[in-house]
Amino acid sequence: EWMSSKDIREKFLSFFEKKDHKRIKSSPLIPNDPQLMFTVAGMVPFKPIFWGKMEPTHTRITTCQKCLRTNDIENVGRTARHQTFFEMLGNFSFGDYFKEEAIELAWEFLTKELKIPEEKLWVSVYNEDPEAYDIWKDKIKIPENKLIKMGKDDNWWGPPGPSGPCGPDTEIFYDTGVTKNCPDVENCTPECDCGRFVEIWNVVFTEFYSDEEGNLEPLSRKNIDTGAGLERLTAAIQGVYSNFDTDLFQKIIKEIEKSLNVKYGENEKNDISIRIIADHSRAISFILVEGVLPSNEGRGYVLRRIIRRAVRHGNLLGTNNKFMSNIIKRVIAEMSGFYPELKEKEDFILKIVDSEEERFFETLERGLQKLEEIMKKSVDKKISGEVAFELYDTYGFPFDITKEIAEEQGFSVDRALFDDLMEQQKNRARKATGSKEYGAQNQAYEKIASQIKSTIFTGYINNIEREKL
Ligand code: ATP
Ligand code: MG
Ligand code: MG
Ligand code: MG
Repeated sequence: EWMSSKDIREKFLSFFEKKDHKRIKSSPLIPNDPQLMFTVAGMVPFKPIFWGKMEPTHTRITTCQKCLRTNDIENVGRTARHQTFFEMLGNFSFGDYFKEEAIELAWEFLTKELKIPEEKLWVSVYNEDPEAYDIWKDKIKIPENKLIKMGKDDNWWGPPGPSGPCGPDTEIFYDTGVTKNCPDVENCTPECDCGRFVEIWNVVFTEFYSDEEGNLEPLSRKNIDTGAGLERLTAAIQGVYSNFDTDLFQKIIKEIEKSLNVKYGENEKNDISIRIIADHSRAISFILVEGVLPSNEGRGYVLRRIIRRAVRHGNLLGTNNKFMSNIIKRVIAEMSGFYPELKEKEDFILKIVDSEEERFFETLERGLQKLEEIMKKSVDKKISGEVAFELYDTYGFPFDITKEIAEEQGFSVDRALFDDLMEQQKNRARKATGSKEYGAQNQAYEKIASQIKSTIFTGYINNIEREKL
């Protein structure tokens, strides 16, 4: 049965409300957490509770959390199921229910509420967790050929950041039935990375604390942390293989087709660029809405990289002119129903994207020429750290862009030296200005931010603090 992503999100949250969970709003993408640059999972706002540093007033919570993962950036556009920005649905238990109920709840939601046929679901458990295995086998009665034991790389979650709460997990996979990329269809299971099986839900038994060396200690409570990607669930329910073919992306992709005069689904190379622009436009909007400005460090640099990467893919699709604003407007129109802050900060978001885009287009062409020349002359298919740094410093190419272009032509880039040169430059700048952020452009961005009155940012305040759980 077809359902909109909006319905699926709401069904999830109200299902868990019916099961005595308190629904709370997404916390910001920028966590109040010195260990993390962005909120990478639904559990991040609750780290202090899991950790035992803060007492919960509700022991059952459900959220739809805005997440951002930069570690997936190279997958974006190339796999059917990775975004940088995505929404993670979750239910959490702080010392309340544990393995059995968590598994039963997830199963009930998927098979009864969403009515996913049981035969389409497969499960993995941590190979040293016989308890979880038996719950699936004896209580849920999942056939044992669809219950896979895997190691720590796959079935252990966390800690997010260098230390913190973590534990073994169990993952639920949806069988798309798509076997065209499978080298061994007969023996294909979720362990195969051909893309047939999509991990839709991870149920984590958060019962340990890991220190920076990886030493484990039991936490004071046994907790549950689950995460189900809204985009992936929606793809499964809407019967499409790729997250980008769900209603979450369709109108954004339509807008890209229109603005850039291209057609989605005609050739893979263009499709990758279209998907990258679609993904990055969402990420850009959600990072900017929290008041981060493009810069050369930290979160601002992640934002800059994402904007420039999107612009470069627009350029690959044939444009030399600014194109992002219509796409960003479409993202805001699509997403502000659930995230009204986007609409409130629309002017600000558009202004910043526009100036960053303009600035990058000024140097993009020359930078590309420079890189072409260097690759033509090269005999060893290597790009030195100095060249990568020059491309960054003079033409505004973040490392990722140089690397992406180089790799398309079979070149590699010297990252270590690039990083060194970056570090040296930052140190010089710090000495020169006495501050971490610098540069005229940044002052210009700050001016835009201060001119737009609605720009009172509420980032950094965790919703668990706001609601005083
Ligand atoms: P994968 O193995 O596919 O990269 P993961 O194991 O890294 O996923 P988790 O950390 O377990 O993912 O996150 C919980 C859930 O969030 C996943 O089961 C998936 O539904 C969703 N999810 C994770 N990463 C992404 C992403 N980059 N884009 C969209 N959804 C994601
Ligand atoms: Mg992953
Ligand atoms: Mg996984
Ligand atoms: Mg997982």
